[in-house]
Amino acid sequence: MTKPVILTGIRSNEEPTIGNYLGAIAPMIDMQRKFAGDYQINMFVPDLHSFTTPVDYNALYRNSLNNLKYFVAAGLDIDNPDTYIYRQSYIPAHSELTWILDCFTYVGEMSRMTQFKEKAGENSESVSVGLFNYPVLMAADILLYGAKYVPVGDDQFQHLEIARDIAIRFNNKFGDIFVVPEPTKVQTDFLKRDSGLRIRSLTDPTKKMSKSSDDNKSKIILIDNPDEAVKKIMGATTDSVGSIHFDWDKQPGITSLLQILALLSGRDQTEVNSEWENKENYGDFKKAVAESVRNFLVDFQSKFKSITDEQILAKLEQSERDLAPIANVTLLKAQQAVGLRPKGD
Ligand code: ATP
Ligand code: MG
Repeated sequence: MTKPVILTGIRSNEEPTIGNYLGAIAPMIDMQRKFAGDYQINMFVPDLHSFTTPVDYNALYRNSLNNLKYFVAAGLDIDNPDTYIYRQSYIPAHSELTWILDCFTYVGEMSRMTQFKEKAGENSESVSVGLFNYPVLMAADILLYGAKYVPVGDDQFQHLEIARDIAIRFNNKFGDIFVVPEPTKVQTDFLKRDSGLRIRSLTDPTKKMSKSSDDNKSKIILIDNPDEAVKKIMGATTDSVGSIHFDWDKQPGITSLLQILALLSGRDQTEVNSEWENKENYGDFKKAVAESVRNFLVDFQSKFKSITDEQILAKLEQSERDLAPIANVTLLKAQQAVGLRPKGD
């Protein structure tokens, strides 16, 4: 296994929406199509990261399996020999390396993490230590496999930079122990990630659709009953302009529906727009969007149901068997560096 590693994690706290599908799941599958062959792709479930935000403990294990099923239903090829899927907690080196790295990470630098400050809010005394130091676990996730590329949203850039800082600090002290991941700029250029796609909330189209939203009508989740999904589209917030135009400023609701229609039916946005431009019957338009959502969900869900736990588990367990020794080699290097294990020749 000497191919450069692209590493990406999928949290499984909530049921994904069509926004997650179009913005994250589908691009990940494109990435597999584009890079497998020349690169090793590590797609892992960061299950240990789950506890940094509220989680349903009873559902976590099942959600982790389901999450991978969503990817397979969306077209991920799990038989691809360059693709590994694994659960973080099944490869103990993640936790072990985290502890060592924790001791080479400063409270000051972690306190400056924007995401921690935002999530902890005023209450930083009573949030968990896990929320505070999860970027160190993330650094271990990356460094164990010598990953060069880590596709993340801009909200994670700072954590990626911390992973680089920790690796460089450790290497400066102990020699070349870790592969330092590429700087974020190099990564985003290489991966050509279009992070611009934002599917809007159905009830407030000025905001993005979010899987953790309490407003069930604002989102279509991938396992929504298709009839319920149709109702949500029919009830989606639009405007009183009276005719259809692709215009994010003046008609965000209509425009968002035009976008959903194009993306889910796999048609060009311009073609969809010219079909509906200037039409006045919002009801007919919504019916067309609702049908495309229904067709998408019916097709997706039938694929989802055809994937068994056994299929997923077989690939997971194989990948975990293959990758644990690789992670252990890196862990051993770090353990030797800090004096926990005798140095080899
Ligand atoms: P939460 O409400 O818990 O933040 P979320 O729906 O925003 O959930 P995340 O877990 O934050 O989902 O993000 C998972 C991935 O889905 C990220 O790559 C993110 O960019 C993408 N994503 C999330 N929401 C949308 C959206 N509305 N449109 C396109 N992509 C999205
Ligand atoms: Mg989010």
